[in-house]
Amino acid sequence: MNKVYESTRDKHERIKPAKAILQGLSNDGGLFVLSDLTSRTLDISSLADKDYYEIAQDVLTLFLDDFTREEIKDCVYNAYKGKFSTDEITPLVKLSDAFVLELFNGPTSAFKDVGLSMLPQLTSTALKKTNADYDVLILTATSGDTGKAALEGFKDVDKTKIMVFYPNDGVSKVQETQMKTQQGKNVKVCAIEGNFDDAQSGIKKLFVDDAFKAELAKEDIRLSSANSINIGRLIPQMVYYFYAYAQLVKTGEIKLGDKINYIVPTGNFGNILAGYYAKQIGLPVNKLVCASNDNNVLYDFIQSGEYNRKRNFLKTISPSMDILISSNLERLLYYASGCDNAYIKEIMDELNTKGSYKVKEDVLKSIQKDFTCGYATNEQTAETIKTVYEKDDYLLDPHTAVAYKVLLDDVDKEHKNVVLSTASPYKFTDSVYHSLHSEDASDEFELMKKLNEETGVVIPKNLQDLDKLPVLHEDVIEKDEMKEYVLKNVKEM
Ligand SMILES: *Cc1c(COP(=O)(O)O)cnc(C)c1O
Repeated sequence: MNKVYESTRDKHERIKPAKAILQGLSNDGGLFVLSDLTSRTLDISSLADKDYYEIAQDVLTLFLDDFTREEIKDCVYNAYKGKFSTDEITPLVKLSDAFVLELFNGPTSAFKDVGLSMLPQLTSTALKKTNADYDVLILTATSGDTGKAALEGFKDVDKTKIMVFYPNDGVSKVQETQMKTQQGKNVKVCAIEGNFDDAQSGIKKLFVDDAFKAELAKEDIRLSSANSINIGRLIPQMVYYFYAYAQLVKTGEIKLGDKINYIVPTGNFGNILAGYYAKQIGLPVNKLVCASNDNNVLYDFIQSGEYNRKRNFLKTISPSMDILISSNLERLLYYASGCDNAYIKEIMDELNTKGSYKVKEDVLKSIQKDFTCGYATNEQTAETIKTVYEKDDYLLDPHTAVAYKVLLDDVDKEHKNVVLSTASPYKFTDSVYHSLHSEDASDEFELMKKLNEETGVVIPKNLQDLDKLPVLHEDVIEKDEMKEYVLKNVKEM
């Protein structure tokens, strides 16, 4: 039996896994989901004996059953083997109040690497399986982390090309340098005179521009997206929820079957949704705790059932969570409403036209059974970095600190708590350094060295000599020049 994905907004829009990965988003704007998610379970009885690679194969097999076992095994090893700084891939560290699950040991030091190391493998396998006679062009807008992780994942992958657009002056110094020094024959990086929303909406326009797509088709190229709505990113993210659980069983911290909590720093709702999926297929989860920064639209939603994006967009020290439209929430709403496609279409239309919606009482009840929530202000985030460093000698990045603060607000002592850590502190050196010291800013790369001397925390290899790498990408364009830019450059890639 092949598992068939359907659109959250229309059960007649159906597609097999390989095609869903290549296409990314359903034609009607919905996200691809399985209506029978809970009908398959992952056997957890032997979890503690398995390594990350084995658990990954088990999870992927459940969700991609038009892929062979052999194909999945190759994808898993090609994605992770030798690419992460530890063979554990996502190590679990014990602190005094919780366990920290480090998701940032990949090639770009952010949790995005877990999904974006796998997506290119799945994409090229899907191209082969479907006998595709075209190349795929990945267009990505980034506020910093996704862009670099996607570039690193797709560089020199056969039959793919990738272009990344980022807001000029809208990303951290480290993030900008990471992208400008990107190597690879099939990559292109360009800054936009505008903010992240301008880059994002510019790309969305291109995806529905038929003349533009026809031009690309002449070169045998089709568009695809590396955004977190792609099932090729979501599915690999389930693996570390199981892996963390396996480590707790193995070390005797819990007995097989005990429920635990996961506290997740949340933006687009991709990371935490993977935890919800893991629970649906058999992981013993007590609560998933959704942690927001000052852009706390999800906090309000989980409290009240009303989603309202009509509010000011705030810039925080956890910029990868600065987001007001959490795309992946649509998948949770789909399941919480009993797979009611028509209802999802209705409220998503409402969000588009009115900027808000309120869910039915039973939908909210269902969500509150699985999720709790909290948030942290900038000041509380900085304080938490300092407190945890002083108490546990462990350096949190600002995103992880948001989650840690939400944990400390109300520690559940009856269950073990796992905080998901989404970035290396060095990716946000400036904010981390100034959480420990109140002196004026200096050069980001100088601060990196100072922070390392002071704390002894090792600087990830990919960030160490970043400022000495040759700059390969210096293009800057106006926000209405993206279409011409793509068409002009794609031929030379
Ligand atoms: C993307 C990101 C997040 C948010 O993850 P979502 O899946 O969008 O909820 C949190 N922290 C960091 C460092 C990120 O890069």
